[in-house]
Amino acid sequence: MSRLMLGKTLERICKAVLLLCLVHFLIMTIFYLDIYTQRFDIFSRFNTRNFSKMHQYFNISKPNGTSLTFLGNEDHFVSSRKLDHNLTVTKKPLPMCPDVPPGLVGRLLIEFNSLMTMEKVQRENPDVRMGGKYKPSDCIAKQRVAIIIPFRHREHHLKFWLHYLHPILRRQKINYGIYIINQHGEGMFNRAKLLNIGYMEVLKDEEYDCFVFSDVDLIPMDDRNLYHCYDQPRHFAIAMDKFGFRITLKGMKVSRPDSKIGKYRMIKHERDKHNEPNPQRFTKIQNTKVTMKQDGINSLKYKLVNVAKYPMYTNITVDIGTPPPRPSRG
Ligand code: UDP
Ligand code: MN
Repeated sequence: MSRLMLGKTLERICKAVLLLCLVHFLIMTIFYLDIYTQRFDIFSRFNTRNFSKMHQYFNISKPNGTSLTFLGNEDHFVSSRKLDHNLTVTKKPLPMCPDVPPGLVGRLLIEFNSLMTMEKVQRENPDVRMGGKYKPSDCIAKQRVAIIIPFRHREHHLKFWLHYLHPILRRQKINYGIYIINQHGEGMFNRAKLLNIGYMEVLKDEEYDCFVFSDVDLIPMDDRNLYHCYDQPRHFAIAMDKFGFRITLKGMKVSRPDSKIGKYRMIKHERDKHNEPNPQRFTKIQNTKVTMKQDGINSLKYKLVNVAKYPMYTNITVDIGTPPPRPSRG
């Protein structure tokens, strides 16, 4: 009887030892794979130093003012390596934002009938910083995007635009600033000039590497239409081309989003005073090849009236002067 007991105990001990060996073998295999192939990110998280070593971002500022974010192994950077050894790493460096943001919802319901107030927009977007700026908190966006809107007397449209666009841009993981370029006075409205001025003025505020021009009454109907820059200048509202020809003559293409996701909803409105169609517009377009060298950014004359930062946007009011009188037709 006691022999039988002894036999059973021995058998149990043997089984336990065998199990331990198996577990040990498994752990060794995991570490072997981790160290020698470094392919399995998940395992390196056991070791915070190793994790930060594999996923370090370096910011390099160049003398000409541009900066690069570089993803690399710290072994390439002796000084940062030394630093790293003296620190216990508690903060994980942020990863780059993915090319396809994971939280997009696709088609959106856009309506303009509800009561909209700036307070409501502010309540809905507590993480937007003063001046209408935002950057994702969980990843580094690849570009800094200035969104430039030509504007005069369209406060009602602006509320809806901000109400819809802030959440969309946030879901798109864009690092952005919203700029309203407000035309001072009651002279003839000049959208193109305001866009050019916007481009010049926003660069005084921050370093941007991408510019998106939008009308205040255009809301994208699909959040997959990303508000960032592509290799070529991109025309966002594919159904509302007005200024694309400038760009094509410079030898660049206007890339277009998929026709399904490039749809925009426009807030219906009457034509504004002092924004009547220019009777010279067709001759002007025909002469663009000749005039574009002297026109636009190269010869921009205006007076900066006021820059004001509001919680949901930055307002830049400019006096663009009066255009030369239109010659009478006939
Ligand atoms: N706009 C404005 N105030 C005006 C006229 C135009 O703010 O008095 C701006 C606004 O951003 C508008 C854009 O210029 O969305 C284009 O003008 P509009 O809406 O009149 O053009 P359309 O509706 O014919 O595309
Ligand atoms: Mn319009």
